[in-house]
Amino acid sequence: MHKKLKLPKKICLVCHRPFEWRKKWSKCWDDVLYCSKRCRNNSSKLGSKIHPSFSKESK
Ligand SMILES: [Zn+2]
Repeated sequence: MHKKLKLPKKICLVCHRPFEWRKKWSKCWDDVLYCSKRCRNNSSKLGSKIHPSFSKESK
């Protein structure tokens, strides 16, 4: 008898909700920190508060 493998879970850094591994993340699971694009965008807003220079457009 084989049980279904449990999917790995992580806690989203932005909304602090657990989210499960998804196939689209199979190659970058270690780098996945947020449950959704929306949270990732939110985090970049938060991040720009911490690192104001990040939002500079100087190239
Ligand atoms: Zn989230």
